[in-house]
Amino acid sequence: MLTAEIIAIGSELLTPFHADTNSLWLTEKLNSVGIEVKLKTIVGDDDARLEETLRDALRRSRVVITTGGLGPTEDDITRKIAARALGRRLLLNEKVLEDIRAKFMRWGRKMPEINTRQAMVIEGAEVLDNPNGTAPGMYLEHEGRAVVLLPGPPREMRPMYENFINARLAAKAGDLRVVRRVLRVVGLGESAVDERIAPVYTQYQNPQTTILFNRSEIEIHLTAQGKTEQEAELLLDGLAGQIEERLGESVFAFRGEMMEEVVGLRLAVNGFTLAVAESCTGGLIAERLTEVPGSSNYFKEGVVTYSNEAKVRLLGVPADLIGEYGAVSAPVAEAMAEGVRERAETDFGLAVTGIAGPDGGTEDKPVGLVYIALSDDAHTEHRKLLLPGDRQLIRWRASQAALDLLRRRLI
Ligand code: ATP
Repeated sequence: MLTAEIIAIGSELLTPFHADTNSLWLTEKLNSVGIEVKLKTIVGDDDARLEETLRDALRRSRVVITTGGLGPTEDDITRKIAARALGRRLLLNEKVLEDIRAKFMRWGRKMPEINTRQAMVIEGAEVLDNPNGTAPGMYLEHEGRAVVLLPGPPREMRPMYENFINARLAAKAGDLRVVRRVLRVVGLGESAVDERIAPVYTQYQNPQTTILFNRSEIEIHLTAQGKTEQEAELLLDGLAGQIEERLGESVFAFRGEMMEEVVGLRLAVNGFTLAVAESCTGGLIAERLTEVPGSSNYFKEGVVTYSNEAKVRLLGVPADLIGEYGAVSAPVAEAMAEGVRERAETDFGLAVTGIAGPDGGTEDKPVGLVYIALSDDAHTEHRKLLLPGDRQLIRWRASQAALDLLRRRLI
């Protein structure tokens, strides 16, 4: 497999305020044509360190891609240092200079003298046009290595890579395509998932399987290689099918979908409608549902009834029910679900009430105690949960469990 390394250049990427997202995007692109990223580096605007990094990269990687540092100012050092590391001259390219001048003309401005720097091209490099900015990129082959210099801003870097680099590197990688799939699991822990599916996935080198823990979900990442995308997809279908056999309904997504998308799709295809009454999640379920485009087709309303008084007034929860069992209880959760469904005149009513902490827990009702309830016109059911985690995590897990209760009803 062809190997690549990515160097993200720019001192701002070493501050707490800017993340290097270019390399994530590039890694996905490279992987999809069968190129493996072996190393990523972030280097500030520092001549010596960049030169050292580039020399190391040229020694060990067949494909070296840099992003950033192609601007017109003194601290944009990529051109100069890359030329030095490659042992090539930096030459003024009149055509590039003309192009940059013309761009400024079109913007109704005179080109500042410092932009002349951006017309300096490494000897033997091909210039990559930048329709979204002034800094052209460069591509060159050097002692059997492909070297690519791209600008930093994603809106400049991405089209340049797509237009000039992707096909070229794909051809170098040969007949190898890499396809990924993310399966998401709810309601099972990491070790339970591994115990059930390890006998299956350990039999395969291709696809490769990685199990990740993400918030309250387990993600199973499958990566397959094939001569064509179709061949790789078939390998994924085979393994994903076997995993589903072992995990059943706990797998809620096969293509990386979020819980709210899966639930939304099931509501939509059945023509069902939903209303939500939330206490400790404070609108999180409604927020998640409405993040999905087209959710207005099935999501009718969400009420945040934080106080007891609001539960009574807006949902018609009987005050004496709250008095007898407390706001965080199964009967109140069910009454909330029924109340919101009847008032909103929807097919389903979903409700959450619980204690997200850090305060407010008692011995009887500890932090993390959450009741979720689901109501339709035939019956109402509830689940009692004891969720671990901090306030934020408990709220998120409660929202996930509530949506999952509805998902399972819709299967
Ligand atoms: P330009 O000439 O357009 O300024 P440049 O190649 O000099 O291009 P930089 O000055 O290094 O680019 O970066 C400009 C901006 O691009 C940064 O402030 C940042 O917002 C974004 N950027 C740079 N590198 C990255 C990266 N690796 N990931 C995400 N964003 C980046």
